[in-house]
Amino acid sequence: MARFSNKVAIVTGSSSGIGRSTAVLLAKEGAKVTVTGRSSEKLRDTVDEILKDGGKSENINIVVGDLTESECQDDLVKSTLERFGKIDILVNNAGAAFADPSGVIGIATNINLFDDMLKLNLRSVVELVQKCRPHLIASKGDIVNVSSIAAGPQPFVYYTFYGIAKAGLDQLTRSLAIELIAHDVRVNSVSPGLISTGFLTAVGMPNEMAKKTENYYASHRDCIPAGRPGTPEEIATLIAFLADKNSSGFIIGQSIVIDGGTSLALAMPSHDLSKAL
Ligand code: NDP
Repeated sequence: MARFSNKVAIVTGSSSGIGRSTAVLLAKEGAKVTVTGRSSEKLRDTVDEILKDGGKSENINIVVGDLTESECQDDLVKSTLERFGKIDILVNNAGAAFADPSGVIGIATNINLFDDMLKLNLRSVVELVQKCRPHLIASKGDIVNVSSIAAGPQPFVYYTFYGIAKAGLDQLTRSLAIELIAHDVRVNSVSPGLISTGFLTAVGMPNEMAKKTENYYASHRDCIPAGRPGTPEEIATLIAFLADKNSSGFIIGQSIVIDGGTSLALAMPSHDLSKAL
């Protein structure tokens, strides 16, 4: 029997990148999935990938909408229950960093972006969990949040507000995990480093600049010791592991770093001291 047979999953932000790969993997391994995002066109591509991998259209529920709006969250829960009768797995993946159009970075960034960044990356997760909570308790389900190494402990200076939102998400993971494990609902999280997705273009970079940025970091092993960005499939594999009680049932409230070594990298070892002495 496939690993996620008889399981029902909601994957937010599944019109692109990590969310799309996660929805495709869960569906491939037997889950019924609700896919969601603002772009119906990109969601269509996700559905095509699921079907190409052997999924059935009756096992896919599509919700087009802005996750920061209560109506979209309500629609996600209601339509999933109507179509599939329960919710076993909630993957809170949708997220983004927003660049200040004036090019400012750090604390000088427009304060409205602080609100936008927290609304999408943190508040929408809190609201959706509140709405899914009784259904996840009924199914003894699993939540996987998608955080970021931008949450710390090291600083994240370009997109300070994004890092603050993800740090809040990590604390939410820990607190929720303890609250909900009393009901046999597990909560865990993944913390990716640089992953090759639509993330940088969503920040506002043209495709070519996003590629150049990835290549630059990949070619500097003091930035990514593994020498390459991660793939969305690699993150999806970890999310599926954390969503599967049989594999990870004793992992509670953890945020697992998956970053090719970035968060361990120190610049000192990458300098050739012998040349300086
Ligand atoms: P993508 O930009 O490829 O995907 C982001 C997804 O979020 C899209 O499906 C997008 O859908 C959805 N989304 C964004 N805003 C909204 C909104 N207001 N309402 C509904 N859906 C929304 O990026 P990734 O796949 O990389 O990002 C996935 C997660 O991974 C995010 O939480 C991100 O913070 C995190 N992450 C990514 C890293 C990376 O380097 N790529 C590193 C660390 C963490 P649509 O555009 O259709 O609305």
